[in-house]
Amino acid sequence: MEKILYKQNLNKNAKCNIWCAYPACYSFAMSSLGYLWIFKSIDENENVNVERIYTDSKLTKLQINEIDAICFSFSFDMDFVGIFQILEKYNIPLKSSERNENHPLIFGGGPVLTANPVPYKEIFDFMVIGDGEVINSKAIEIISSMKGLKKTEILAKIAEIEGIYVPAVYQEKIIKHCVKIEECVYTPILSDEAFFRNMFIMELSRGCANCCSFCMASYMNLPVRFAPLENIIETIDLGLKYTNKIALLGAQVTAHPKFKQICEYIYSKIQSCPEIEMSISSLRVDGVDDCIVKTLAAGHQKHVTIAIEAGSERLRKVINKNVSEEQIFKTVETIRKNGLKGVKIYAMIGIPTENKADLDEIISLAKRIKQANKGFDISFAFSSFIPKPNTPLQWHGRFETAELENRQQYLKKEFHKIGVKASFSSIKWDYWQAVLSRGDGNFTDFLIDVYKSGAKLGAYKKACKNRFNPDDYAIRNYNLSEKLPWDFIEVHPGKEVLADRYKKIFDLI
Ligand code: SF4
Repeated sequence: MEKILYKQNLNKNAKCNIWCAYPACYSFAMSSLGYLWIFKSIDENENVNVERIYTDSKLTKLQINEIDAICFSFSFDMDFVGIFQILEKYNIPLKSSERNENHPLIFGGGPVLTANPVPYKEIFDFMVIGDGEVINSKAIEIISSMKGLKKTEILAKIAEIEGIYVPAVYQEKIIKHCVKIEECVYTPILSDEAFFRNMFIMELSRGCANCCSFCMASYMNLPVRFAPLENIIETIDLGLKYTNKIALLGAQVTAHPKFKQICEYIYSKIQSCPEIEMSISSLRVDGVDDCIVKTLAAGHQKHVTIAIEAGSERLRKVINKNVSEEQIFKTVETIRKNGLKGVKIYAMIGIPTENKADLDEIISLAKRIKQANKGFDISFAFSSFIPKPNTPLQWHGRFETAELENRQQYLKKEFHKIGVKASFSSIKWDYWQAVLSRGDGNFTDFLIDVYKSGAKLGAYKKACKNRFNPDDYAIRNYNLSEKLPWDFIEVHPGKEVLADRYKKIFDLI
């Protein structure tokens, strides 16, 4: 069952029909704040009928022959598979050049396309670069008002919107769109079949000022913006009318200048209604204090994740994650003392320049954290470094897969010996994510072949044959002077600053 938290007009007299598509199943879609917020913003347009669709949608109210455009959310590198599934299900050719005037316009937005839209330029008719809520609406307004005209005319008009990339129209550069956060973005539709069942998610901040040199969430969302306190309070009250589960979201939630007041407000609500559950998915090591953890404990959160990224102080300097070992110990202690059951510590392997001593330091750190916090549930989660466009480490490739697998095996063995739980991402899947994230305009047939062959690991390897060497994308170190496929996307603080930061990293060593 769904609960709609905004005023919905079910009797619109609109001629334009849009499908808002999520490239995975219903339960994931209903836990995606960005997707649901974009749906709400389209639904509030009186000139447009909009319907949500997913990879597991069966019956739809609107029929494919009535649809003017399909808007896809693209948050994860591998989402192209779900996008192709949906297109194929409705007999829509995957390449834009093979679609005709009877097919709907296909467009997308989200972090993957904002960072590097180039691999998908022959799939989408247009892509939204940056924050979608405003420019998405402008594009839809054009689609609605120009209904019946030729696609080329509609796309030429859409290309005039700052922040929209239309591959069929020449655009020298695209300026990433950045909105002011005047209101707190929240889950506008609650569902008891969502992956996070009936969870009211609130976005308190966008971006992170820390600028860790690998972090797309930080660099793609500068400058950091915070929702106003008064609006956050109103939004909490709205959510609590419909559910007792609240989650606070944002790369740097604890850095909100009024975070203490927000916690105190939620804490007071919990005092009068103890069933309220509050959660924060991950906390910054330097942003944890008694008040936050007390509120989380009162809100029934059992575990929390902190991201240290690297075990040695040297490596944390390389990635600009300037937290000390002392801070890490203090944070874990604060979490334990205030009543949580455990902490998950997130780290990466394969950060550029990582060596055996760095790996040994993380093992030693884990051992000492365990000793200092007896009976507390400590676990580690490791992924591997993936170079991301528009970050200072965009030029740096990964270590060879075999080397990373050896490092992973070493950590697995040593963590087992010291009795600290550790989970690991798949090095091979991380490799293909890196290929996709630094992909270029020659990827279309590769992506289609991957999809057609089942999109398992073997399909990726096979689809590269006779096309390109994937190591050139995942492993090779790029020259600073090299032209990068995504250079035409203008993102603050710009390529020169990123290059200076990149050089600085290696001056450190
Ligand atoms: S602190 Fe976290 S969110 Fe902020 S830049 Fe570093 S990794 Fe990214």
